[in-house]
Amino acid sequence: MPRAGIVTVAGKPNAGKSTLLNRIVGEKLSIVSPKPQSTRDRIVGIRSEGDVQMILLDTPGLLAPRYPLQHAMRGTAVAALSEADVILYVVDATSGPGEPIVELARLDQPPRAPVITVANKADLLTEERRSRLAAQRPDLVFISAATGDGLPGLFDRIAALLPDSPFFYPEDEISTQTVRFFTGELIRETALEQLEDEIPYSVACEIEEFRESQSPVYIRAVVYVERESQKRILIGAAGGRIREIGREARRKIERFVGAPIYLDLWVKVLPNWRRKVSALNRFGYHVPEQQSP
Ligand code: GDP
Ligand code: MG
Repeated sequence: MPRAGIVTVAGKPNAGKSTLLNRIVGEKLSIVSPKPQSTRDRIVGIRSEGDVQMILLDTPGLLAPRYPLQHAMRGTAVAALSEADVILYVVDATSGPGEPIVELARLDQPPRAPVITVANKADLLTEERRSRLAAQRPDLVFISAATGDGLPGLFDRIAALLPDSPFFYPEDEISTQTVRFFTGELIRETALEQLEDEIPYSVACEIEEFRESQSPVYIRAVVYVERESQKRILIGAAGGRIREIGREARRKIERFVGAPIYLDLWVKVLPNWRRKVSALNRFGYHVPEQQSP
């Protein structure tokens, strides 16, 4: 009998959840960034191997929400936890074994699904530190999402916890998200990379047009920021920075789509979009009802 189910990847921002998800799926699906909070929506990846299918949910970092975008992010993370068959709780092992997930996520009760606590970034641990942690917390599964170390063992553990079930998706499918969605994420990732800390988290991307029938594939995208001053920073002197972002994003999208593309990239201001439910919905972030301002 095959096994299949939902594996939710949770943990603090920057623990390496997106890197692990990409490793598991074997494709670059979730944006990876050294900046915390870069994964805003939940991303579905799928791994099918042998008679095991894992449907993976990435969660935005679990944090105490301060404004509507963060409410949306937390709501998404909590929902993904309640849907899970197995929870991979990823902790950055270089900062210790982490607090219990109930505390981190401020859940009213422990999650229904079994939790595997994954001590990530094991490549950065000394042998001594690792042994000490392992003695302290024998349940930890040490891995390195960056090098792939420890993953086969992790897969076996996950598989053992998944329910007997036929596959939910065809074997060759790696995601249910659209190419359009990933294109927007790649542009946002590139903007974040090149902006350093100048415009923290005020960047959203909307794909206005995606014409696959022509070659190169035509994509018109708008990068939204919250203020005119941010727009000027994003565009840069004589348009230099936005041109560079466009060039780099195009390279990534071409690799992802596997075809030449023409990227028509614009920058617009949508004042305070992170605090507006209508704008959040438009960018695909779902703000839970009761928490709307
Ligand atoms: P997320 O916020 O939990 O999704 O974290 P990311 O996957 O975006 O990773 C955060 C940072 O940690 C990035 O700079 C990654 O390259 C880095 N990282 C993730 N996993 C590992 C690992 O196993 N070893 C090392 N050395 N770095 C890692
Ligand atoms: Mg992430």
